[in-house]
Amino acid sequence: MTEAAPRKQLAHLTAVLDDLRARGTYFKLRVLDDQQAPVCHYDGKQVINLASNNYLGLANDPRLVEAAIAATRKYGVGSGAVRTIAGTMKIHMELEEKIARFKNVEACVVFQSGFTANAGTVSSILGKEDFILSDELNHASIIDGARLSRAAIKVFRHKDVDHCEQLLQELAPLPGKKLVITDGVFSMDGDIGPVDKLALLAEQYGAIMMVDDAHASGVLGRNGRGSVDHFGMHGKVDVQVGTLSKAIGALGGYVCGSRDLIDYLYHRARPFLFSTSHPPAVAAACMAAFDILESEPERILRLWSNTRYFQGELLRLGFNVGGVTTPATETPITPVIVGEGRAAMEFSRALFDEGVMATGIAYPTVPEGKARLRLILTSEHTRAELDQALETLERVARRLGILQ
Ligand code: PMP
Repeated sequence: MTEAAPRKQLAHLTAVLDDLRARGTYFKLRVLDDQQAPVCHYDGKQVINLASNNYLGLANDPRLVEAAIAATRKYGVGSGAVRTIAGTMKIHMELEEKIARFKNVEACVVFQSGFTANAGTVSSILGKEDFILSDELNHASIIDGARLSRAAIKVFRHKDVDHCEQLLQELAPLPGKKLVITDGVFSMDGDIGPVDKLALLAEQYGAIMMVDDAHASGVLGRNGRGSVDHFGMHGKVDVQVGTLSKAIGALGGYVCGSRDLIDYLYHRARPFLFSTSHPPAVAAACMAAFDILESEPERILRLWSNTRYFQGELLRLGFNVGGVTTPATETPITPVIVGEGRAAMEFSRALFDEGVMATGIAYPTVPEGKARLRLILTSEHTRAELDQALETLERVARRLGILQ
């Protein structure tokens, strides 16, 4: 039974929610009734889905589903323990070896999520006498990991390599270790981090170089090998994080690098030490996904051709497609900048009513005044679906005065 009277101990939380309602940025979770697909049902309504990270359509690929079922039959549903106690299964090791080969590195360790991979790694490889140089738009999991490490955090302006160098110069006389860290692809703007230039800079100043490739995995580089491959920087990036939750279609995060880095994380990364490992089904599904990346590069080509078409049409219609450095974004992540939080949320709700799922994103996820829709293309959207979504976007935007 639910209790009727709110408890005053949590009144400050209710006040925050009331404030969000007053600003028009309070949201309810939309509930997916069926599979994560280009056309699916949320809250009972059929929509063209432009909101998922299922870049290559692998979240419901029959081969991943079959691999997960077979692994469940063979190994059960749970690993039963954290990796360091009794929860390292053969299938976990096989997945890690497969990823290491794919990424062309010595070793790999898988975490429960991309979030824990970032936070667990950044927090454990540095200490309070050290320094973290971090792009201002890096993901929350990097920021949290940096805080947990107790190292001093120096934030450089977005993609500003000169600013990063200036900070490295200032820190050069100080004894602590330095870590330069950037997203490979920035999750809210879809632009590509200057991984090549930052890696060279890090090398010049003896700093550790780390990249978060959550949105680059399966999207950038040969067969989706990520930003390091995209820039031809193999061997120049000490720590590569990737996710298994987006293009790979399942759940998890991984860290790639030297054997010693991975051994060290076994001993010190807190999510690895203190939280139970993946169910065998997840590991099996991920292995099937890496096989598909190798054998079906045409999926990635389709993803890019959908991206170019859709962004080109949005620009032609007069939408502000973000584009920090270029007229459009550089990847399938497509921000449609609206400005005010309330307006972005209204736009998103109106689109949903008209059959397009397009997430509205407002402060604090993005800066004040930069509220937006964040659309993501996948390889599986058909041209007809994209055209229908474009027609709806234009019509609703004109009605709401977002397009003149
Ligand atoms: N890094 C970035 C840049 C991300 O966008 C995300 C996902 N929001 C993560 C890390 C976390 O990945 P996961 O969803 O696997 O925890």
